[in-house]
Amino acid sequence: MDSLTNGEFSFSPETQHRDFELLTQALDASISGMIITDNQQPDNPIIYCNTAFEKMTGYSRKEIIGRNCRLLQGEDRSQKERDIIKHAIQQGEHCVVEIRNYTKTGELFWNELYVSPIKSATGNVTHFIGVQHDVTRRKKAELELLHQQDVMEKKIEERTKVIRESEEYLASIYQTVRESLIVLDPDFKVLSINYHFLKTFKVSVGETEGKGLYELGNGQWNIAKLKELLESILPTNNPVENFEVEHDFPHIGRKVMLLNAHRVELEGQYKDRILIAIEDITDRREIERRKDDFLSIASHELRTPLTTIKGYVQMMIRFMPEGANEKFKNIVDKTGLYVERLNTLIAELLDVSRIQTGNIELHKEPFDFDKMIYETVEGMQTANKEHRIIVRGRSTNNFTGDESHLVQVMNNLLSNAIKYAPDAREVQVYLSLVSNYLKVSVTDYGMGISSDDQKRIFERFYRAGEIQQHFPGMGIGLYVCDQIIKNHGGTLWVESEKGKGSTFSFTLPLNEKDNHE
Ligand code: ADP
Repeated sequence: MDSLTNGEFSFSPETQHRDFELLTQALDASISGMIITDNQQPDNPIIYCNTAFEKMTGYSRKEIIGRNCRLLQGEDRSQKERDIIKHAIQQGEHCVVEIRNYTKTGELFWNELYVSPIKSATGNVTHFIGVQHDVTRRKKAELELLHQQDVMEKKIEERTKVIRESEEYLASIYQTVRESLIVLDPDFKVLSINYHFLKTFKVSVGETEGKGLYELGNGQWNIAKLKELLESILPTNNPVENFEVEHDFPHIGRKVMLLNAHRVELEGQYKDRILIAIEDITDRREIERRKDDFLSIASHELRTPLTTIKGYVQMMIRFMPEGANEKFKNIVDKTGLYVERLNTLIAELLDVSRIQTGNIELHKEPFDFDKMIYETVEGMQTANKEHRIIVRGRSTNNFTGDESHLVQVMNNLLSNAIKYAPDAREVQVYLSLVSNYLKVSVTDYGMGISSDDQKRIFERFYRAGEIQQHFPGMGIGLYVCDQIIKNHGGTLWVESEKGKGSTFSFTLPLNEKDNHE
């Protein structure tokens, strides 16, 4: 009979020994480490280990036989897996654990350990068999993965925190600015509005968010100019700044608003949002209107007594007694001069208020333009001996326009060229014809104008900062000049370099039909 027929051992001592040899060889050929412990002896000693176990742990068979398995855990005793094994042994059950073990030289390896009880015919646990695999590489990869996951989670957490903080930061700016802000989706539905909007237009979040802009508050935002901005101008011209809209709102009355609109073209969820910032300039406009009214009234009121004073001065000159003393004559002349200066200033102020109300009247008639220039220069030259005013070139002797207002423009440009170039000795005037325009340029070699100031000097009452204290003036001359030139269908501009001088030029259309604003 064969020794292992039907999986059972035969009973002859000879074949028993052969079977045992075969089994031992088979166990030694296995790549799994194996040990057997004797449960019936104190402290459950190891009574067998195979070759794979020796390789895995570095302990030889003779070093391990008789020892308890805890030897493999070294000092690393606080592993919960130990409790699982203990429990399984007490209960005589199977268990599988992954436990940290140490080789004879103290090197860590992860042991995937299967512990199974061996029971006698009466059911008592006599031995335990432990089958082990070194799963260090897999375990390391798993641990590395867990570590990476941990790192990633931490990073995500940090990023989320940063995003949340910057969102909160932006939201607090959005809510705090003293300008009304509204964000629309591409179909003009309100996505959000800020606190200032709610306050200014007396609406609530519920009444606005998620609603179409044009339907808000019974269509009170259905404003033709706003529609034009959103539907025609913004799509081709992004962003739009200082777009003025005036509208009568049912509960809050007439509002003048300056709108800045911006299409936010970020890919993803913010694609094509529209941000509108609304500045309420109703009060500012009202103050400006009152200032203009005051200016108009004050200049009219000042002019009346001044005309009387002017008359009296003329009478004093006419009725000056023969042989009047020179000092007295001088005083009367000076009075006349200052009254005339005051008169010019008041006339300028009146011009400003007339321009503001659209009441500036131009009387256009044909006149000899070049002659007008020469005469104006002559007058200016007589009064200013320090600078030499040189006229060059020619334009036309037949121009239709308001001569006295164009004289006013020339006087203004020339007196500025002299006033703002105290150390220079020359002013140049150049006349020419360009296409069907005449062109006049006035060049000085004075202080020049910074590029920031160049953008603003044609505004009324604007004066470049640093000159305010050193030179007299009201900052309205260029504003009036610009309006007069515009009223003739022309253009006035400046080219200047700080410290080198300035050239003010204007063109006027020769063709009479273009000669209007
Ligand atoms: P005003 O001379 O009364 O201030 P204007 O309207 O004529 O008013 O000029 C506005 C401002 O432009 C001046 O205050 C000055 O700063 C600047 N400016 C005008 N002309 C010149 C110039 N020729 N050179 C330098 N700065 C000038």
